Amino acid sequence: AKAAGRATFRFFDPHMQVALDASATLEADLRFALQRDELRLYYQPVVDGSGRVTGVEALLRWQHPQRGLIAPGEFIPQAEKSGLIVELGDWVLAAACRQLVGWSATADSAHLTMAVNVSARQFRQPAFVDQVLAVLERTGADPRLLKLELTESMLLTDMDDVIAKMTTLKAHGVGFALDDFGTGYSSLSYLKLLPIDQLKIDRSFVHDMLHTRHASSIVRAIITLAYSMDLAVVAEGVETREQWSALEAFGCNAFQGYLFGRAVPLDELAVLPDGGAYC
Ligand code: C2E
Ligand code: CA
Ligand code: CA
Ligand code: CA
Repeated sequence: AKAAGRATFRFFDPHMQVALDASATLEADLRFALQRDELRLYYQPVVDGSGRVTGVEALLRWQHPQRGLIAPGEFIPQAEKSGLIVELGDWVLAAACRQLVGWSATADSAHLTMAVNVSARQFRQPAFVDQVLAVLERTGADPRLLKLELTESMLLTDMDDVIAKMTTLKAHGVGFALDDFGTGYSSLSYLKLLPIDQLKIDRSFVHDMLHTRHASSIVRAIITLAYSMDLAVVAEGVETREQWSALEAFGCNAFQGYLFGRAVPLDELAVLPDGGAYC
């Protein structure tokens, strides 16, 4: 009886109620965020070995009227749970593709690739392929400049469906990157089955690579693996020149991280007009 009493008490814990309210409010707000045009895309540069920008990754932000700028980690998991991620993902794709068309008029930026993150639930939708093709058609964006970023864990169930979707989009020119590579499942046999173009080394390994042998071995192994399978490889989270040169010494030739630029709104993407080296 005592335990039940405590359980009942905990159920009505006022702090817990506050947390529940906050998450319910956030979710309701998020629904309006789409209608009220509060979502923003920020762009982080991806650079080659000489520091030249070859593309950007679109990263979602929510410009909340009261709370200010909210990072995706704070609302994407919720959007996944509620299913709102499908609408949200559609918005992201459309905004990213419109931007591709927007800067394709400038010769210097016409070749820049646009990487877009795709969530598991979004990718699982039976209509995902049609959704992407419709956005490409509607915006007139060049599919060869669009790179969809998937994570390992979302590729391992219902593999036939995954392969079919990727193959169809690939036939239209769309590229695929495997995000956060190294953090997921260790079975690598699936890599051969999937039409992937690029591995992105998770930033936790880049962060640790100069301090632990373990991390630097993993980084080297991923780079070797990528080249042996004819895949491109991008190192994420490069923050220092030391990390950059160590990665270059390992053979990596594409980089992303605060050293080269944070994710910024379009008008702060200073590197865009001249497209030249800026390091
Ligand atoms: P991600 O795809 O791994 O994106 C990289 C994250 O690392 C971004 O955080 C970026 O700002 C951050 N970052 C980049 N360089 C550095 C660095 O040098 N050091 C450190 N410490 N961090 C760096 P952000 O923008 O907060 O995004 C977090 C995650 O949210 C993303 O991780 C991605 O999984 C998800 N996300 C972002 N935008 C979208 C979207 O449009 N759709 C979906 N489904 N997920 C998104
Ligand atoms: Ca990503
Ligand atoms: Ca990543
Ligand atoms: Ca991540």
